[in-house]
Amino acid sequence: MLRTSRVLHPITSLGPGRRLGIWLQGCTLACKGCMSLDTWDAGAGTSLSVDHLLALWEESGADGLTVSGGEPLQQAPALTEFLASLPRDGRDVLLYTGYELDELDDEQRGVLAHVDAVITGRYRAGEQPGLIWRGSANQLLVPLTPLGEERYRPFADLAGRAEVQVRVDDGLLWLVGVPPAGVLPKVERRLRDNGIVFEEAAWRP
Ligand code: SF4
Repeated sequence: MLRTSRVLHPITSLGPGRRLGIWLQGCTLACKGCMSLDTWDAGAGTSLSVDHLLALWEESGADGLTVSGGEPLQQAPALTEFLASLPRDGRDVLLYTGYELDELDDEQRGVLAHVDAVITGRYRAGEQPGLIWRGSANQLLVPLTPLGEERYRPFADLAGRAEVQVRVDDGLLWLVGVPPAGVLPKVERRLRDNGIVFEEAAWRP
């Protein structure tokens, strides 16, 4: 089972193409300025079986899979089981982690054996990224396989910002992607001025 915050498809703002996005629940890294405080509590979210996630992958017809969180590598054994079973057919897996590669233990390195590219490092508020798909300038995009080299190397040092997607699901509004620092409170204020009030927001405690 994988403790999961949400699964969305298609996402186009965290990796190339139209992707299946899986956000895993639970993170102890506590980056200051994290915009996903709702994913910290390892007891929140929903437990989904590997078989259920595999079915979602097959149904989606996605071009690739993006795994984020929360901290995916804090569920390393179940995540390895899922990724090792994933039919690929040329489709890639991109994984976000707040860890640096040299911090990983053997189980966490085992996850990366099934990943084509990884984005590493804590989010550091105030270090504006400039580089695509990353939240702060310290975060690295590292290809790990030949497919990862082919698909991600051209983006490793590419400046720019993918558009942030807006999804509405079950009364929840999801902003998917890497918004510029300070934009989320501005969006909230602007919507409030137009009569739309957020009861809660993942970027404030
Ligand atoms: S930015 Fe990512 S790694 Fe850092 S606290 Fe938030 S969810 Fe955890």
